[in-house]
Amino acid sequence: MRLAQLLFSQGFGTRRECEGLILAGFVAIAGRVIDDPDAEIDPHGLVYTVEGREWPYHERVYLLLHKPAGYECSQKPSAWPSIYTLLPPPLRRRDVQAVGRLDQDTTGLLILTDDGALIHRLTSPKKHVPKVYEVTTAEPVTPKQIDALLAGVTLRDDPKPVRAAACEAAGERALHLTLTEGKYHQVKRMVAAVGNQVERLHRSRFGALELPANMGPGQWRWLQGPQDILGA
Ligand code: URA
Repeated sequence: MRLAQLLFSQGFGTRRECEGLILAGFVAIAGRVIDDPDAEIDPHGLVYTVEGREWPYHERVYLLLHKPAGYECSQKPSAWPSIYTLLPPPLRRRDVQAVGRLDQDTTGLLILTDDGALIHRLTSPKKHVPKVYEVTTAEPVTPKQIDALLAGVTLRDDPKPVRAAACEAAGERALHLTLTEGKYHQVKRMVAAVGNQVERLHRSRFGALELPANMGPGQWRWLQGPQDILGA
């Protein structure tokens, strides 16, 4: 692949801007500046440097973000900054989308990708991909509430009951709740339906993927691909 085409495919700007970066000597491979936009490069497994920062070549983007509170999962947020501002510009330019949305005040594991087929697969209600939420409640959690969440509750505007695939107390006012669907405000509405209220909500797992303990809010990292989320 031509070096200019490679940078273009990775989100470094227009074709002309990518050529400009190369001609200006800002692009290096294995420590050697390459200033020829037409240089033929094998992108497979490539790590290259643009303006001193290292980038791995990825044909498709699969990212894990620890979403902080106070960010909206929208390209055009209404009141809070967008989660996309947490990504560096080349990744923002690639058409990445969050797989499902977390509320502004929810924290935790968010997957971002430009792989439309994977988004469909992970958000399709038929696929039942489990998501684990750590919930802090306003009132003490009762065994009756847990039983009701497991048995299924009816939400307003939705005649079909929804139930937790798993639910257990994790403290006096804490629950671990596993859902296989992703309806609007589902955790908050389910907890409200059993007579309690969500005070804090954090997603710790999505499919086979767990939020690493050493990733702080606002940090992101590359995933290898769908297998990281779907399992082997
Ligand atoms: N359920 C909610 O109520 N909010 C979220 O952000 C995610 C799941």
